[in-house]
Amino acid sequence: MAVERPGALALFSGGLDSILACRVIMAQGVAVKAVKFVTPFFCDELLTREDEHRRETRAQFGIDVILRDLSEPYLKMLRRPVYGYGKNFNPCLDCKILIAATARAMLAEIGASFIISGEVVGQRPMSQRLDALRVVERDSGCDGLLLRPLSAGRLPETIPERQGVVDRERLPKFSGRNRTPQIELAAALGITGYPSPAGGCILTDPNKAGRIRRFYEENPEVRADDIRLLLVGRQFRLPAGSWLVLGRDQRENERLLALSRDGDLVLRMSDWPGPVAVLRNFACGGDLELAAGLIRRFSKKGEGRSRGRVLLEVGGAEKSGEVAGEREIPDEAWQDWLR
Ligand code: SF4
Repeated sequence: MAVERPGALALFSGGLDSILACRVIMAQGVAVKAVKFVTPFFCDELLTREDEHRRETRAQFGIDVILRDLSEPYLKMLRRPVYGYGKNFNPCLDCKILIAATARAMLAEIGASFIISGEVVGQRPMSQRLDALRVVERDSGCDGLLLRPLSAGRLPETIPERQGVVDRERLPKFSGRNRTPQIELAAALGITGYPSPAGGCILTDPNKAGRIRRFYEENPEVRADDIRLLLVGRQFRLPAGSWLVLGRDQRENERLLALSRDGDLVLRMSDWPGPVAVLRNFACGGDLELAAGLIRRFSKKGEGRSRGRVLLEVGGAEKSGEVAGEREIPDEAWQDWLR
């Protein structure tokens, strides 16, 4: 009876390097299962279409990928990362350690015996220096188990290489920021239509990362659905402390409705086009009137704007609650409430 070779679990970002890492290992006859970790800071939207993403990745790149929601441990780690933050609120080393450690814990479940990733020595200043790669391997409990196929020839031998599961001599020796070798390898393997390298991580975006950092400073407990809400629409902190979010278009209005949770107040104009609003951590009635005034301010211009009724919904069921007043908040008043 043929003995099945131990397989690999791939840390899969979806970028070219992770695709290549999978493909060069698969080319050696090793079974590869890929996992894409998602958090509110990266790839979160895939959770709503996991099957589709899986089908697309298999059809386009021949890679079998599953998603894992890493939100909870990630949110905790982000408060106090051991190795600190990068330029913005990005805890790259701790992020990689958490991802590798989680993958390590999944090996038995997946039936794999080692982990691969698309990291390339020297490609990124903070997290892909030689010493940083070593720290990730050590702190994640992946000693000898984390193979970086694209730079294998420049790194110490791992267990699957020593055991002959993977032939080290057939793996690349990429290093540095030059992307040409990866592009040439992709062409040689017939890989096309891969995404261009772009920062998909919100924690590296100066504006959004700053907003998230402030939210952490203000709140001892941070939940994934708070972060999701924080990344949509116009954000206000009203004078009594309520958190108001207004949709800027139809897509954001729908997103806000999907993100509202028990305890939130949902507001919108009943007879005039305007934003959907979610009011969270509702503090007092004064904030409710201000929220209604802001909804009027950001509603479609026209004679119905100031006269339009603002309705209040609680818990998703529309109640007849109409917020009093016809006031529209003037622009000079709300600038200081922006979050
Ligand atoms: S950029 Fe974001 S996803 Fe990438 S390693 Fe850094 S924190 Fe993690």
